[in-house]
Amino acid sequence: QKVELATYLHTICAHFHLALKEKEMELDISCSQGLYISLDPERFQQVIINLLDNAMKYSKEGTKIDLMVKKSAESLTITLKDQGIGIPEKDLPYVFDKLYRVEKSRSRKSGGYGLGLSIVKEIVEAHGGEITITSETGKGTTVEIALREDG
Ligand code: ATP
Ligand code: MG
Repeated sequence: QKVELATYLHTICAHFHLALKEKEMELDISCSQGLYISLDPERFQQVIINLLDNAMKYSKEGTKIDLMVKKSAESLTITLKDQGIGIPEKDLPYVFDKLYRVEKSRSRKSGGYGLGLSIVKEIVEAHGGEITITSETGKGTTVEIALREDG
């Protein structure tokens, strides 16, 4: 199914409006209009929701999240960047593993099963895309998803 990306992302992110407000966080969406992409809207929605959930859950109040879409020759890159607690370098290789959570102590109070990112990766790859995470402890985390424009 062909989806107009800007409308699609804004619609999904609208569900986070209240949660963001309660945590005094801001979400900036930067995506030009008229970019069409083939994806399964229901499934891919889980990707955005899980990533936004993480970005909020692992960030302090008053910080900002950036959602950006960039188009290059043959791919579209969706980037979600937060200013949260970050992921230690030693844990980064494992965050896509099922049930993996960084340091149970820091995660326990924020709940979760360590499933979010494994599901995200599965859905992105089912769309022929690639996902990468970079992070710096105390500074924030950036998730990049590269998709072929024709799906
Ligand atoms: P679930 O998503 O199942 O509710 P979860 O959020 O703990 O639980 P994942 O989404 O798979 O699980 O993330 C795995 C781990 O990676 C998390 O426990 C967390 O420590 C770390 N992590 C994921 N995203 C971020 C982020 N944006 N900032 C900091 N740490 C993160
Ligand atoms: Mg999660």
